[in-house]
Amino acid sequence: MKTHAYLLDIKEICMDKHLTVDEIFEKLKKKYPKIWRSTVYRNVEEMKEIGVLTKLTGIQDKALYEVTKENHIHLIDTKNKRVMDLYMDSINIPWVPHNFNIEYMNVDIYGKFS
Ligand SMILES: [Zn+2]
Repeated sequence: MKTHAYLLDIKEICMDKHLTVDEIFEKLKKKYPKIWRSTVYRNVEEMKEIGVLTKLTGIQDKALYEVTKENHIHLIDTKNKRVMDLYMDSINIPWVPHNFNIEYMNVDIYGKFS
């Protein structure tokens, strides 16, 4: 099997979503009925290694994966464990000094909608 054979499919599936490997597997299975779960696990892990996917742990019991993208904040609904991406212009983050150039940001905010 070719390395990264499903890279484009997985990238498309994970676009603007935060999914477990099992969820990625279920979606891939619709297109490739004979695909193995272990193949998907390997592909996802390889994509994480080369920086295409970002792994999020500690939100659900299983790790979530998303397509690596510009710095953003995660708003995590603790009721249904859904993850929303929030983008902020770094210049407009009020608590960051204006002369501090953000290179990397990893912010998770947990809560519930009322
Ligand atoms: Zn995200």
